[in-house]
Amino acid sequence: MRIPVQGGAELHASSKFRAWRAMSEESAPHPMPVRQHQHCVKTLLPRKPIWTWKLQQLTRLVRESHAQPMSGTHGLPAAVSPHEVGVMFLGHSSFLLQIGGVNVLVDPVFATRLIVLRRQRRPGVRIEDLPPIDVVLITHAHMDHLNKPTLRRVARRTRQLTGTAPVVIVPSGVADLVSRLGFARVEELAWWQTIEVSGLTITATPAKHWGARMFRDTHRGFGGYVVDDRAGGRVYHSGDTAWFDGFAEIGQRLRPQIALLPIGAYFPDSYRHVHTSPEEAVRGFVALGAETMIPMHFGTFRLGREPMEEPPVRLLAEADRLGIRNLVRVLAEGETAVFRAPTEISPPTGAQSKAKQTDLFAAASKDL
Ligand SMILES: [Zn+2]
Ligand SMILES: [Zn+2]
Repeated sequence: MRIPVQGGAELHASSKFRAWRAMSEESAPHPMPVRQHQHCVKTLLPRKPIWTWKLQQLTRLVRESHAQPMSGTHGLPAAVSPHEVGVMFLGHSSFLLQIGGVNVLVDPVFATRLIVLRRQRRPGVRIEDLPPIDVVLITHAHMDHLNKPTLRRVARRTRQLTGTAPVVIVPSGVADLVSRLGFARVEELAWWQTIEVSGLTITATPAKHWGARMFRDTHRGFGGYVVDDRAGGRVYHSGDTAWFDGFAEIGQRLRPQIALLPIGAYFPDSYRHVHTSPEEAVRGFVALGAETMIPMHFGTFRLGREPMEEPPVRLLAEADRLGIRNLVRVLAEGETAVFRAPTEISPPTGAQSKAKQTDLFAAASKDL
């Protein structure tokens, strides 16, 4: 069973669009920016009455997405000291970062469905079990990353706990989508722009993807973030991206310690124009020179056409092949990885010598 909706621009609120999108995603050869996408859809449409066909596709989509009950259990945030960095996996691309004594949510999506697509794994935490959130980071406006009901609930919950709502940071051109959800402040960042908030330095990073949530809103930005606690804790969340040379530049400029990288929605191969395969994500990790890789964007929503269980298997096989299995942490939903400040890590494992990194990168690039 597989839901033929790819990870990305998927998603609109109207039922008309739902039907169209379900149909078009089924037909599209790969997830691509909408203009190209529409062209391909036209050329691939079957010769039967369009609404009959759309209805069949929608019915199938809904049926498949409900075929299995949701699995997984909620967890509780771990106790993390201000001198440590906690990375809690909440499912898909959602994380709770506890860094520098500050609580940061990245791309929180707690919805049980995206329009008609049913979630396959429960979120790693309940919203009511979250600590007060200081900052919310949104990488781009695609529905599996920006979920308005979740954001409204997160803002309200923190306001109830502390009297103050979180700050939300979004890419350029995305502020209008979050401006009325109850946040204390909305900040937009372009690539490489930096903001100081709650004692953290947050930098927006480039990506190879696209940002339109609907058809014509191609002005919306997209990307990732590096969150720096200025004490050695630096976490990079790439957002959605294909492989690109920007990984090396991000590594050189911002030197992330922990890299959260996407490994799902890569099949068929043409999807890799906008999403990394597990092997490409490993290559990105090596190019970054980070110390630990934590995978994301798999297991929760059926977005690509690869088997749901395949991404982490391929990821670990590639890490084994390169001899860096000890640098990869696959987290279950609700699990927190706690890292000490890098100065206490001895010896540093991932920030390899330049020569070792070059060798690894050559090996990681083989056959890609
Ligand atoms: Zn996505
Ligand atoms: Zn996306």
